[in-house]
Amino acid sequence: MSDEAQRAKDLLRTLAHKGFKRDRSETKAYRYTGGLKAAGRDVSVSITFPDLEFTRLPELILLNPEQEAPHVVAHLTASGGFCFARNEDLILDRYDVGGTALMCLELARRGLERALTHKHLEQEIAQEFPQHWLGMPFYYDIAATDHIHATLYYVPRNREPNLVLLTDRVDVLKRLVSDEAARRNVIASSRPAFVFCSNTDLTFGRDHRQPLTLAAFIAWLESVLPNTGKRAITELAGRFPDHLVSLFVNAPNGCVGILVDASLPILRGAQRQQGLERIAMANAATIGVQRYSGTRVDLPFIFRRNLNSHPPLTDKRIALVGCGTIGSHLAKFLVQSGAGHDDGTLLLLDNQTLEPGNVGRHYLGTTSIGDSKPGALKAEILRQFPETNILPMTADAVGFLETLAGYDLIVDATGEEALSMTINHHFVAHRYDHETAPDVLHVRLFGNGAAAQALLVDGPNFACFKCLKPDHSGNWRFSPLKSGVSAAQMVAACGEGQYIAYGVAAPVMAAALALQLILDWKNGTPTPRMRTIRIEKKDTQEVADKNPDRSPRCPVCGNHQAE
Ligand SMILES: [Zn+2]
Repeated sequence: MSDEAQRAKDLLRTLAHKGFKRDRSETKAYRYTGGLKAAGRDVSVSITFPDLEFTRLPELILLNPEQEAPHVVAHLTASGGFCFARNEDLILDRYDVGGTALMCLELARRGLERALTHKHLEQEIAQEFPQHWLGMPFYYDIAATDHIHATLYYVPRNREPNLVLLTDRVDVLKRLVSDEAARRNVIASSRPAFVFCSNTDLTFGRDHRQPLTLAAFIAWLESVLPNTGKRAITELAGRFPDHLVSLFVNAPNGCVGILVDASLPILRGAQRQQGLERIAMANAATIGVQRYSGTRVDLPFIFRRNLNSHPPLTDKRIALVGCGTIGSHLAKFLVQSGAGHDDGTLLLLDNQTLEPGNVGRHYLGTTSIGDSKPGALKAEILRQFPETNILPMTADAVGFLETLAGYDLIVDATGEEALSMTINHHFVAHRYDHETAPDVLHVRLFGNGAAAQALLVDGPNFACFKCLKPDHSGNWRFSPLKSGVSAAQMVAACGEGQYIAYGVAAPVMAAALALQLILDWKNGTPTPRMRTIRIEKKDTQEVADKNPDRSPRCPVCGNHQAE
C-alpha cells in the first residue's frame, strides 16, 4: 500500500470512530461530515483536509449554523468556515495522522463551545475585531482622534484597482503610489468616507453580529458609540447627489466599515439630501451593506510592529558615511527600521559612482552604473519608501566631518582604514573639546570578507577605533583573522586599483551586525559595543563580543580620563 493510501486509511479509521463519514463528492480534498457536541448541542460540521501532508489546517464548516449555532458570531470566515486555530499557531504532525485528526476535532469542539457559551467572547472578538467583521480588506491610516471626513482611494495593482486605502490625509497615498501621475488618477477616482472615532475597543455584544443591512450596522454602531445613528444617516447622504458616503469606525483595536450601493433603486428616487436621509432611514432594514475590514498601514505600525521592545529610528539624525558594499545594504536596513521618517534624517555621504565591478555585492543594480552612489541609493530607497527624508551628499568625507557634529549617530561604513581613523579622531577629539559629539559606529570587513566587526564609540569609558590598533604598523587587538591570514589583493586593471574579492553575503552580514548594534544603541542597551561575526570559519578565530577597554597607547584618547 502506498504511503498516501495508508495515510488516507488511517484518517478514515480515526474519523469513522468519531462518527464521521467521507464525503466522496469532494474529489480534490479529504472531506468528512459528522457532528461535534458543544455546549449541550449537536453541531453538524464538515472537516476538510486539503491534503494528507498536513501543511495546512483542515477547514471546518458549520453545515446548519442558523438552526444549530445561531449565536456564533466569532471566528467565522467569509467563506462560511469556522476558524478553530491559526495556521501559524498550530503545527500538524505529518507522522501521526490519527492523533492529528483527533486533535483538530477537539480544538474545533472547544472553539465551538466557547463561541456558543459566549464565555470571554467579547474580549476574544475584540482581540481581532476586523477579522471577525468578515469584510473586504482595506488599508487605513487615520490621524484624527475625533469623527472626521476621510477619503477612500482605489489603488491599482497588477492593472486592477484592487487596493483600498482609507485616510484623512492625501499625503498618505504617496506611501502606496510613488508616481505622481498615477497618484492624480487615483485621486480623481476617489470616494468620500466618514470615520467615527471610538476610544474603546470594538466588539460584538450578545445581540449583535456582522451587519448585513444598514439598520443592523446602525444598531451595532449605537451599541459602540451611543447617539451616532442619526449622524451616520446624515453623513451617508452628505454628498448628495454625487456619492453615498461610506461609513467607518476607527478604534484602538481596528477599523471597520460599510459601503452602501448607490445604485439601489430605492435610493435613486431621492430628490434632495433630506429626502435621501428619510428614504435611507425608513428602508434601512432592507438596504444591504458591503462590509470592510481594515489593516493598518500607518508608519508607527509599519516601523514598530517587528521591533518588539526596540523603538524605531524614526526621530534620529543619522549620517551614513560610505555608500559602498556595506553602506548600501545598511541604508536600506536603516530606512526599514524607521530612519528618515517623522523628524528623523538620513544623510548618505560618498564621493564615488557605481562601477560594474561593484554591482555583484552592492545593493544597487546594473541600471545605476555610472550614477553617484548616494543619489542613486536615495532614488532606489524612495521608490520603496517615498516618505523618507534622505539627504544625498556626493562629497569627500574628510572635508565634511565638521558639518556632521549635529547628528545623533555617524555610521562609518567606509571600509577604508585611514579614513576610519580620521573620522574616529575627529569625533573623539570633538567630544573631549566640547563634552559632546555624535556617537560613531564603525563597521568593516576583515580579510576576504572572512569576518565582520562593528564598534560603537559613544563615550570615553571604552575603546575608540584607534584603541583597537594603537600602533600604525602593529596588529589589531581584537582581530578575528588567524595569524598569517590577510586579505588577498586581486590584481586589477590598470587604474582601477587592487581590490579584495568577496561576494554579497559578507557585506549584508556586516550591515546586519551594524543595524542590530544601532537598534540596541537607540534602545539604550548598546553593550557589547564591539561585536564580531565570523563568516569564513577556516581563516578566523573567535573574538568575544564585549565593551573593549581603552589602550593607554592610543594617541587619541590615551591621555584623557575615563568618566
Ligand atoms: Zn582611543
